[in-house]
Amino acid sequence: MKGIFPIEKFSQMETPFYYYDTELLRETLRTINQEAGKHEGFVVHYAIKANANPKVLNVICQAGLGADCVSGGEIRASLNAGFPASRIVYAGVGKSDWEINLGLDKNIFCFNVESVAELEVINELATKRDRIAPICFRINPDVGAHTHAKITTGLAENKFGIAMRDMEAAIEEAAQMKNVKFMGLHFHIGSQILDMGDFAALCNRINDLQNELEKRHIKLEHINVGGGLGIDYQHPNRVPIPDFKAFFDTYARHLKLRPGQKLHFELGRAVVAQMGSLITRTLYIKQGTAKQFAIVDAGMTDLIRPALYQAYHKIENISSEEPKETYDVVGPICESSDVFAKAIDLNKTHRGDLLALRSAGAYGEIMASQYNCRKLPVGYITEDL
Ligand SMILES: *Cc1c(COP(=O)(O)O)cnc(C)c1O
Repeated sequence: MKGIFPIEKFSQMETPFYYYDTELLRETLRTINQEAGKHEGFVVHYAIKANANPKVLNVICQAGLGADCVSGGEIRASLNAGFPASRIVYAGVGKSDWEINLGLDKNIFCFNVESVAELEVINELATKRDRIAPICFRINPDVGAHTHAKITTGLAENKFGIAMRDMEAAIEEAAQMKNVKFMGLHFHIGSQILDMGDFAALCNRINDLQNELEKRHIKLEHINVGGGLGIDYQHPNRVPIPDFKAFFDTYARHLKLRPGQKLHFELGRAVVAQMGSLITRTLYIKQGTAKQFAIVDAGMTDLIRPALYQAYHKIENISSEEPKETYDVVGPICESSDVFAKAIDLNKTHRGDLLALRSAGAYGEIMASQYNCRKLPVGYITEDL
């Protein structure tokens, strides 16, 4: 287990930092290409928001994935990393004019439109530039994913997407517009989903919608089902690569694609989470009255998921082989929620020991902040060391 980290090198480095195992990333990408490649018409995009480290993006881009963006900044980051504009999709409930204009100027593959108000603005801006904006409607399928409430996006009361009952009116409105081209539908039901039944439920909903639309002679060239595949946070060593076979096979089995139709995916977490660890140094061991604290130099500013979502990250002491003791692992930030784990077992920990917070490659570095005037953590890939 400890063999997976270059400890000698780590011990010379300033902490905290992110370490990205590019060998695992490449193997993950090979698995994705292999499993998606078994099915006609499947197209995979990487959701940039999970991790936009330029070196990581570069590896993902080289594997041939497209990019799923949720802001103009992400469109820029994707283009800089080498993703072709023709493989960029752009979603988001609140697209600013400059962001829409950027997408138009760069000729991105598709805007995933989340309201009729946005459709009107896109048509207006495209008219001014004498362009035709390719669009899909993001539909809220009212399918609940069995995941954390803050990362469920497909329920009716959610801010994302267009309600199913408003879908046909939106499509008809788009058909009247001269400067948008309607290409299909987009969905994204949530994140960290491990029950394939949730994805199957989405497929059934899409099948119904597609049947309804065909009765009205509306054809979809593209269906985009978003991302959401979860990872095993408990067992990063045993399950380093998510079950992409089960994921893509579920869609192949349940979604009734028409001939020539393309099925797009936008995977974020499942691509990058397991290859990343946050490496932090132990500053102090503090004996409380009923427990002991390992106070480390990383905090919620470096990895906010435990504070924000009560997320679990496996923590390992990669410097010690001594018998295990129980610790609360906490950061230095002046917030009570700056706790990485409570009552976990670590090899006996001393000042100076390096801890690895595992499965931190997704929604880690990218969500870092400078609260308390802290430095942003640096992200290193294997080749940097
Ligand atoms: C966040 C997001 C994704 C990626 O979600 P993961 O759970 O990381 O796979 C895909 N599509 C859209 C529209 C998103 O907002």
